[in-house]
Amino acid sequence: MTKYFSEKYSRLVPYTPGEQPKDMEYVKLNTNENPFAPPQSAVEAAGREAKRLHLYPAPDPVLLCEKFAAASGVKPSEVIATNGSDEILDFAFKAFCDKDHPAVFPDITYGFYEVFAEANGVPYEKIPLADDLTVRASDYIGVGKTVFIANPNAPTGIALPLSDIERIVASNPDNVVVIDEAYVDFGGESAVSLINKYGNLLVTQTFSKSRSMAGARLGFGIACEELIRDINTLKYSTNPYNVNRMTQAAGCAVLDEAEYTERNCRTVMENRAYLTEKLKGLGFVMTDSAANFVFAKHPSVDGETLYLELKRRGVLVRHFTGERIKDYCRITVGSSDQIDVLLEKTREILEEVK
Ligand code: PMP
Repeated sequence: MTKYFSEKYSRLVPYTPGEQPKDMEYVKLNTNENPFAPPQSAVEAAGREAKRLHLYPAPDPVLLCEKFAAASGVKPSEVIATNGSDEILDFAFKAFCDKDHPAVFPDITYGFYEVFAEANGVPYEKIPLADDLTVRASDYIGVGKTVFIANPNAPTGIALPLSDIERIVASNPDNVVVIDEAYVDFGGESAVSLINKYGNLLVTQTFSKSRSMAGARLGFGIACEELIRDINTLKYSTNPYNVNRMTQAAGCAVLDEAEYTERNCRTVMENRAYLTEKLKGLGFVMTDSAANFVFAKHPSVDGETLYLELKRRGVLVRHFTGERIKDYCRITVGSSDQIDVLLEKTREILEEVK
């Protein structure tokens, strides 16, 4: 740390993105990307826009927001496009949290919430998950803080029913409740239908998972017009051109190919069922995941060993060191071929540790 680095960040522990080692070709099941490429029309649309890289993108991507709003059953003025959903989450910490509105989120959830809270100087509380690793909705009823809940949660994949989300939102009228739906398209219930009923609900979604666009960085916030206006104040005070022109064009094309997205989501869900059954057959214990990953542990091999042994054999999964989840690995649901490699290597490892 240099003497120039602001004292306010001196204790900041940055988020650690999933690794991308380059020493060999890995089967990459560690960052919950979609195993399928985006539709050809999106690739071509991005290519066309690449020829206009000398021009700034639209600060207000009207067409993209119109298409996304139509697909979500809301008005264009009720959405904002961001640079991945990480950016809308950061905006939410900036816009809706301070010492009078501290943040609250589960102790086991998307690790970036804590980093955003720290980076923005926001006081926060972490509420432990229940013993079965579920978010206990009752812990958030009338909690009187700005709530951040990933639904389905990460890295467990466990989803809360919409009725629980509504109770949380309804019981905290003086605070914004942020529902992070990064994984909702793989079997969760979206809260978007509630944005007009509750002026304190902000739903965040991403094109990184179900829409095969992790490399393009596109996310959305969906909320009543007033909340979107507040968030726009932040956007226009930080980075008005937050979504680049290739991403805007690819996003529009992906939205025009809703059936392609739906088919891929169905395949991922079928693959999840297959992977779950096979891992259970090998003796794994797993959470009930509604996301595009599974969270699994085995009685005879600890999470870190499984992660390291899989990596040695060319398969990347994600291991977290937190005390309550260190026995688990989070495994992205890949293509059938990727899953078969994972299962073959896992069998080898289990044979060895026997
Ligand atoms: N929320 C959750 C729960 C996530 O797991 C992730 C990605 N790992 C994100 C948000 C952010 O994704 P992106 O910025 O790619 O939209």
